[in-house]
Amino acid sequence: MKTISKSGVLFLLFAGLFFLSSCDDGKVNIFSVDEDIQLGREVTAEILANPAEYPILDEAQYPEAYQHLRRIRDQVISSGKQSGQLRYGDRFDWDVYIIDQEVLNAFALPGGNTFYYSGLIKYLEDEASFAGVMAHEFAHCDRRHATNRMTKIYGYQVVLSMILGNNPSLAAQIAADLALGLRALAFSREDEYEADEYAVKYIYPSELDARGVAYFFEQMELEEGAEWMIYFSTHPHPSDRIEKIYQNHQALGGKEGEKHAVRYQSFQNSLP
Ligand SMILES: [Zn+2]
Repeated sequence: MKTISKSGVLFLLFAGLFFLSSCDDGKVNIFSVDEDIQLGREVTAEILANPAEYPILDEAQYPEAYQHLRRIRDQVISSGKQSGQLRYGDRFDWDVYIIDQEVLNAFALPGGNTFYYSGLIKYLEDEASFAGVMAHEFAHCDRRHATNRMTKIYGYQVVLSMILGNNPSLAAQIAADLALGLRALAFSREDEYEADEYAVKYIYPSELDARGVAYFFEQMELEEGAEWMIYFSTHPHPSDRIEKIYQNHQALGGKEGEKHAVRYQSFQNSLP
């Protein structure tokens, strides 16, 4: 496993300091696209090496679950490429993993790797909803929200501490932060709205209904006092997000799509 070397970090720092325009869509990001990929691979390795915190569903034991997961991933990526909106469809790794825990969540790393809790897969009602959540996570990767945020939150301090040797592994720190509740990768409200918007754009050319994320929120809104209330105290309220998702969908033409509830059930049944 190649790690970001100190000289590489030093270069990064200077590249960051002197070329602050090295960013996309006007956002400062001290990481290059290749460093997004590299960092994502390092954090993935940290996660896979920590089964106590991240009990990854064993593919040898549950091959069918991963077949479903990758089938949906391939569909979202090919549709995203077709939409012309997914920038790194051919460049990122886009590895997908299932974490076998009754947790209602999913998360994305820089460079395309994403993780889905079995609790979330079991909770959702159809494939359109799951594909919507996946496309939302893909948007966080493809829009480079994580390293944009890390540039903002950690700034040059973390880069400096890496050079000084106080912080030998940024990847280990991110993996630890993730376990504490996604703090390292806690996205802004703006990022969340953007990920919702791009999720619709990626899925729209496919046969699937592109409003999947909205269906997920609608399903959660029907429940009272659930954990999601806490989640949404620090995130944009689902009602606002639902409305914007419907608007984005209308702006593209409002095409109806398939939800594939029956096919999704066989994905759910393939889980332990
Ligand atoms: Zn998000």
